[in-house]
Amino acid sequence: MLHGYWFKRYGIDAVYELVDLLPDQLATFFEGYKRAGWVGGNVTVPHKLAVMSYAELIDDAAKAMGAVNTLFWNDGVLVGGNTDSMGFIGNLDERVPGWDREANRAVVIGAGGAARASVYGLMNRGLSVAVCNRTVDKAESLARHFGGAVSSHGLDELAMQMSQADLVVNTTSMGMVGQPPLDVDLSPLKSEAIVYDVVYVPLETKLLRAAQARGLRTVDGLGMLLHQGVEGFHRWFGKRPEVTGELRQLLTDDIRAKTPGA
Ligand code: NAP
Repeated sequence: MLHGYWFKRYGIDAVYELVDLLPDQLATFFEGYKRAGWVGGNVTVPHKLAVMSYAELIDDAAKAMGAVNTLFWNDGVLVGGNTDSMGFIGNLDERVPGWDREANRAVVIGAGGAARASVYGLMNRGLSVAVCNRTVDKAESLARHFGGAVSSHGLDELAMQMSQADLVVNTTSMGMVGQPPLDVDLSPLKSEAIVYDVVYVPLETKLLRAAQARGLRTVDGLGMLLHQGVEGFHRWFGKRPEVTGELRQLLTDDIRAKTPGA
């Protein structure tokens, strides 16, 4: 729906297709990749690591995150890149312009793939990041991976970490449709803090509703999806497409139709 909207808007004759592959089908798929005429694509779970061995070059972001989400050609070389952190930051820049002028410290809840993208993006904007996760080992390994500006904590330290934060990000799957909500006491947060939930189904999670009720600024996860799409489209077609209100509405309506009452 996202890329189809841009193809139509910019008069590009292309299709964005879903290819459902089992791990043992990847080798054959990539043998025929060039011949099939793909200009690129996105990669999702569970192949984000495995495709690294089929790309001829891995870009810095994908190296730093240890995962590929976007494939594209550069002078005939198939590149495995990662646009998730650009999507994460692009959304924040769009929704809260100038957010990083006063922000020094962030708390990221979770230590999976979305957490890596968020931490990488925030570090690149000069913030220090406290990663709080249910499984502390995973938070520790993420902090070790990214180094000095990132610290690791269990969820028991969340309230204390939040009291010092300018931005709190939920990157867990909690709050997603079919999952229990993320129940976090937001009272330790400063009144200028921003609450960002990368979950986008539903759009308004319980966490975001609680933050709005406290008068805090909030950012939902749909824009992260839209902005990582911008980066992919740019790499495939050399054009940076626009995230229009119409596009956001199109996807919002689709998500709402799929999650009635959420
Ligand atoms: P992931 O790698 O599987 O990580 C899941 C994280 O959630 C882990 O930190 C896990 O903690 C935590 N978690 C799961 N169940 C929990 C529970 N009951 N209590 C506490 N923590 C729990 O998943 P992911 O790929 O990072 O995706 C996470 C969410 O981000 C999903 O909702 C996904 O849709 C969303 N996402 C959004 C975008 C976007 O464009 N907006 C992009 C990527 C992902 P443990 O380590 O303890 O298991």
